[in-house]
Amino acid sequence: MLTSQQYTVVEVGSGADALTMLEKDQDIRLVVSDYNMPDMDGFELARRIRRRYSAEQVRVIGISSSTDRAISAGFLKAGAHDFISRPFVLEELQCRIASNAETLLRMRQLHDLAWRDYLTGLFNRRYFFERGPKMIAEARRSEQPTCVAILDIDHFKRLNDEHGHDAGDEALRVFSAGLGEALVGMPHLLARLGGEEFALLLPGLDKGDAGSLTDAIRAGIAERPMAVGPLMLGLTVSIGLAEISARDSLDVALRNADRALYAAKQAGRNRIQA
Ligand code: GH3
Ligand code: MG
Ligand code: MG
Repeated sequence: MLTSQQYTVVEVGSGADALTMLEKDQDIRLVVSDYNMPDMDGFELARRIRRRYSAEQVRVIGISSSTDRAISAGFLKAGAHDFISRPFVLEELQCRIASNAETLLRMRQLHDLAWRDYLTGLFNRRYFFERGPKMIAEARRSEQPTCVAILDIDHFKRLNDEHGHDAGDEALRVFSAGLGEALVGMPHLLARLGGEEFALLLPGLDKGDAGSLTDAIRAGIAERPMAVGPLMLGLTVSIGLAEISARDSLDVALRNADRALYAAKQAGRNRIQA
């Protein structure tokens, strides 16, 4: 029934298999779990899911054929969001699953509104300062360096003046998508700080490696004209890079990167300065 309603459904036979499946397939957002299972009961599974995933990531609906009303309360207390008695009326099952799916969607939308930049879809400044310090701390715990770069498009005002603000907006979107693609498969945090300025956090890379990576990104942008609507535009970017020392906060490191960016602009643009 759920498959025919365009849900992607995966079935497993035990609580342990459910947890393994959740780990393997990060797209699973909703778990419908029986109370009686061979290895652990539904409460235990709900508790374990809650310990590992936030309510935004995975929701749980409990099911039981027991007439004991305490089971539904037990599921909710264990971190489930809803409960269905069996035998169920098909329509009730559909409605409860649809309403939980709807809640997940709304939560995702709220999340995006709060943390993402509307124009480019990249993370915003707020998210960068929320998540960034945690990534730096994680890297420090495993004795890894972290670098931060500020990327600023060169003479962007000129592009706006010559081709109009809409072309400028489109250029920012294309530019952002290109940055995202260049960073696929690499641990990073990329955000639009504002205007035509972007911040990039690179955990696990020292100044040398981060310098090579960001310079390759810079060169890629400079070499290939960018399709902006019907126009082919040659854009360049200047980059300020700083390694975050053991005592530096993200603010201090960004200020260092900003100073380096200023130097890159002074030195003639389309370059990286560390
Ligand atoms: P520089 O090489 O020194 O960085 O020169 P620049 O022209 O890029 O820098 P400046 O800071 O003088 O100008 C940035 C311009 O970016 C000014 C503003 O019109 C434009 N801008 C900022 N945000 C947006 C936006 O969301 N959309 C568009 N189309 N333009 C924007
Ligand atoms: Mg600029
Ligand atoms: Mg700027």
